[in-house]
Amino acid sequence: MRLSRYFLPVLKENPSEAQIVSHRYMLRAGMIKQSAAGIYSWLPLGFKVLKKIETIVHEEQMRAGHIPMLMPTLQSADLWKESGRYDDYGQEMLRISDRHGRDMLYGPTNEELITDIFRSHVGSYKDLPLTLYHIQWKFRDEIRPRFGVMRGREFYMKDGYNFDLTKEDALHAYNRHLVSYLRSYERMGLQAIPMRADGGPIGGDYTHEFLVLADTGESEVFYDSAVTDLTFGDRAIDYDSVEQCQGVLEEFTSKYARTDETHDEALFNEVPEERRRVARGIEVGQIFYFGTKYSEALGANVQGPDGKQSPVHMGSHGIGVSRLLGAIIEASHDDKGIIWPEGVTPFHCGIVNLKQGDAEADAACESLYEALTAAGLEPLYDDRKERAGGKFATMDLIGLPWRITVGPRGLKNGVVELTSRRTGESEELSPEAAVQKIVEIYANHQTGRGF
Ligand code: ATP
Ligand code: MG
Repeated sequence: MRLSRYFLPVLKENPSEAQIVSHRYMLRAGMIKQSAAGIYSWLPLGFKVLKKIETIVHEEQMRAGHIPMLMPTLQSADLWKESGRYDDYGQEMLRISDRHGRDMLYGPTNEELITDIFRSHVGSYKDLPLTLYHIQWKFRDEIRPRFGVMRGREFYMKDGYNFDLTKEDALHAYNRHLVSYLRSYERMGLQAIPMRADGGPIGGDYTHEFLVLADTGESEVFYDSAVTDLTFGDRAIDYDSVEQCQGVLEEFTSKYARTDETHDEALFNEVPEERRRVARGIEVGQIFYFGTKYSEALGANVQGPDGKQSPVHMGSHGIGVSRLLGAIIEASHDDKGIIWPEGVTPFHCGIVNLKQGDAEADAACESLYEALTAAGLEPLYDDRKERAGGKFATMDLIGLPWRITVGPRGLKNGVVELTSRRTGESEELSPEAAVQKIVEIYANHQTGRGF
């Protein structure tokens, strides 16, 4: 993309309404624009990152054997009345009536709708196990929408639902989700720690929230610092293996890590004092096994091998796709702007032409642009007639992890400058070597293509 032809409405001033850094930088980098409280338009740069995050989530869900689909945002209230949640959900649910006076709602989540699909089409254990998911806009009429996309009213969420014959099978599905979530967050350059969470009215031990540590997080968390040493890495995993998935769950959840809702001071005190941490975190996902709650309410039964009908065991599993943009920025920025991890960066590399209009500099930039594009990467070429300082400030603000700077002086010596946004370190290389290096860096990252 050439910056002269892109739509990147960066702001020079700090927007006064933004209280936290991710919100500030998303507005300043021209990623989002508020349309109403907690509701945003996604401008091209923000949309691009959103789609990259979404792609990672899709790829990891499909890798785990989960099946993508799409359910609508607007739902009839009938199913919610059947499950009893129409009254229970409270004011967070946006209720609408259509021209015929029928009760509708903008879905805050989809347990009812998916259970209805299941009961209409599946009746036998032979069709199980089954996990369906979608990535769709949700609406929750939050009392205090704030922090930009972090706590929106309209937000983008992956929600998946597993259907299993037995509790054991459903717990395997739970573990599979835990593994696939760990992989997803790591590909985004994030550490998200599974923490034992509150089962709410359903109760039980089977729910974990994934938290990104950040001072601006809304949750108070208590953990053994040893959990921060765990990484999933690129180890192979067989998602059909009950033992392997269970092993990962045990490895990642055996150390103390809880949100304030489930915090147990006595247990926490068993952690060696020097490893006890009290901090804040951003919830970027939650997994849940809730048994037969919805299948009983909605009559979603399956016939087992013995011919007997029983309610199907279910769980639901969510990732806050749009919130993740904020969480990633909270975890990765400096005073100049965002620092995107390679896995989600909107463009792989910036090209800054120090002297636009200089024949040699222009030609060198063009050939870098072509070489990177031919290698399957997306460069962002700042080809505007602007001063170098302004170009650098924009690149730093929008946070591309790598920048190639091209100027007549360097070109006389046959070199361009390659700079890491994260470390600020630069090296002089031939243009070919710079391209080669960028290509190698991204060969180690499975990035989704943006739009
Ligand atoms: P919270 O406690 O933050 O209100 P929740 O536990 O009610 O979230 P879930 O139903 O678990 O949310 O939804 C799954 C994921 O969707 C959450 O982990 C979070 O990342 C994201 N999410 C929930 N509410 C919002 C919101 N208002 N804005 C943006 N993302 C959200
Ligand atoms: Mg939650």
